Amino acid sequence: MSYDKNNIFAKILRGELPCKKVYENEYVFSFHDIYPQKKIHILVIPKGEYIDFDDFINKALDKEILEFNRAVIYIVKMLKISNQENGYRLLSNIGKDGGQEVSHFHYHIFGGE
Ligand code: AMP
Repeated sequence: MSYDKNNIFAKILRGELPCKKVYENEYVFSFHDIYPQKKIHILVIPKGEYIDFDDFINKALDKEILEFNRAVIYIVKMLKISNQENGYRLLSNIGKDGGQEVSHFHYHIFGGE
């Protein structure tokens, strides 16, 4: 399967669709999920074109993988839900049986309750 440049998150990255931005750096973009399942429900995506977790780990540069994971830690601290506070749930759906709807790799961060 090849990366679909017209997936929703690719459009958000290009600024073609609106979002409620939480954080951005050279490698990572983060925004509120449009249908939050918890008080805090944030999505974190790499700026590179990766379909899912496996694709990301297989194809991304070490620097991208490191910066992506560091961004998660930065964001949970920013939102005051880190392991030093009440904690959070980190999840990635992969493929059809994983329930992945948007084919641009993302982590869900759930917290706040
Ligand atoms: P997944 O099932 O892991 O692919 O999750 C996709 C997530 O993207 C779901 O939780 C959706 O609510 C969320 N979502 C879909 N469209 C948008 C959008 N335009 N802005 C923010 N989140 C979205």
